[in-house]
Amino acid sequence: MNEMDNKQRLELPHQQMAELPVDRRLAGASEVNVGYSEEQARAEAQRCLQCKRPPCVAGCPVDIDIPAFIKLISEGRYADAALKIKETNSFPAICGRVCPQEQQCQAKCVVGRTGRPPVGIGHLERFVGDYLVANPQPVSSSPEPTGYKVAIVGSGPAGLTTAGELAKLGHEVTIFEALHEPGGVMTYGIPEFRLPKDIIRYEIKALLELGVQIVHDTIIGRTLTIDELFGEMGFAAVFLGLGAGNPRFLGIEGENLRGVYSANEFLTRINLMRAYRDDYDTPIRRGNNVTVVGGGNVTLDSSRWALRLGAETVTIVYRRSREEMPARVEEVRHTEEEGVQFRFLSQPMRLLGDDGDVAAMECLQMELGEPDESGRARPIPIEGSEFTLPTDLVIIAIGARVSPLVPIAVPGIELDEGGHVIVNPDTLETSIPGVFGGGDLIPGEETIVRAMGDGRRAAQSIHKYLIDRE
Ligand SMILES: Cc1cc2nc3c(=O)[nH]c(=O)nc-3n(C[C@H](O)[C@H](O)[C@H](O)COP(=O)(O)OP(=O)(O)OC[C@H]3O[C@@H](n4cnc5c(N)ncnc54)[C@H](O)[C@@H]3O)c2cc1C
Ligand code: SF4
Repeated sequence: MNEMDNKQRLELPHQQMAELPVDRRLAGASEVNVGYSEEQARAEAQRCLQCKRPPCVAGCPVDIDIPAFIKLISEGRYADAALKIKETNSFPAICGRVCPQEQQCQAKCVVGRTGRPPVGIGHLERFVGDYLVANPQPVSSSPEPTGYKVAIVGSGPAGLTTAGELAKLGHEVTIFEALHEPGGVMTYGIPEFRLPKDIIRYEIKALLELGVQIVHDTIIGRTLTIDELFGEMGFAAVFLGLGAGNPRFLGIEGENLRGVYSANEFLTRINLMRAYRDDYDTPIRRGNNVTVVGGGNVTLDSSRWALRLGAETVTIVYRRSREEMPARVEEVRHTEEEGVQFRFLSQPMRLLGDDGDVAAMECLQMELGEPDESGRARPIPIEGSEFTLPTDLVIIAIGARVSPLVPIAVPGIELDEGGHVIVNPDTLETSIPGVFGGGDLIPGEETIVRAMGDGRRAAQSIHKYLIDRE
């Protein structure tokens, strides 16, 4: 990398990732982003200035050594680059696809601060993650068994990461998952066209090779209790990675009409139960004029699936403006390209029915006021600005919360007023000794990389907790 100086590097063009044309996207569930070729990856890697004090690393929630892995790419050492990322992030092929890089590492990139596109850190991460999937590396030597059994509840990114890290330390790990497939939101929420299921299957297979066992169709709190895990089943510690899968609703008139789904149900039917495929007979309502309420990734995913299921029009109704949308910028662009329309500054007020089926959404126009507690401009209703959107399918995608059943599943566990499980910020231990938690279940950013970061930290704490007992 020494042959070029920074001035020359800054003149190198940013490598655009190839994308499927819109007609091919809408014809199925194929992934929209095609990925970098080897030449593109090396060319993009050359754009990195190898900053001495790299601000991009500070923007990464799991402190990936970004310049180091990019340098390895520029040298053609792709497996080494992937292993460098894996020092702090277990799943580069997943994070390279779904992390909000434009708000994290890439937002801080020095190249970006010169007015040029920042280094495509996410695309490079995906490139080496995919390289590892295509060229698996031998599993490192098996650790000495510690004799401790650890139960992981939930197989989302938090649970999977904790399980992998603990298995590498020699513990006997069993994951208990309520659903019939592992992966959490990555499996039942995020669509195939953003995160192919083969990638998740690959990561799960790697975990099984480490000796982790997965028990499906098992709800902790119903099929088995925490007391049973600690008692006759002999687990010495438990990690809770239950996520936050309880959908929020608007609380407006007409929400019980036929043709109104929570995004959670709509996406689960499609992703987990394959309702989009003719060879599955999972029932799903396919609307002609679909309205999706919200402004995040879940909203976009629902709207894009509705198009792929054959809707004529899909409209996103969001009460703030484009600037406040919490969704990934790239997904907003893809969603617009595919033909979804946006009604910004619009608040649903009630749903109107026709013989029990939803037929229209009555909305109120909003304007933006001072920032609220979330730091975003507060939407304020404009009096007398009602308007009506005809619709035959409504999907409510305004977020989710921790299940109210958690205190029943884990009696005595302490929650904050938002319903999240309270943990010690240093150890991620809950109010119950030996029970740890992470991911969407505890307060903080609801992202995959955060859940994975929690998983790594929790694994270290659980290991210490078990060893200290000796
Ligand atoms: C549609 C959608 C799109 C998203 N897009 C992005 C994105 O692009 N980028 C990003 O960073 N984040 C995204 N997110 C957020 C991200 O997926 C979550 O922050 C992350 O999955 C949280 O991980 P987790 O391991 O805490 O929980 P989850 O992924 O929710 O997994 C929890 C698991 O626990 C299981 N479980 C729950 N209760 C029990 C029980 N009692 N017993 C046994 N098992 C149980 C559940 O079945 C589930 O499998 C998206 C979320 C959704 C819904
Ligand atoms: S800030 Fe940008 S240029 Fe500097 S090391 Fe990070 S990715 Fe490379």
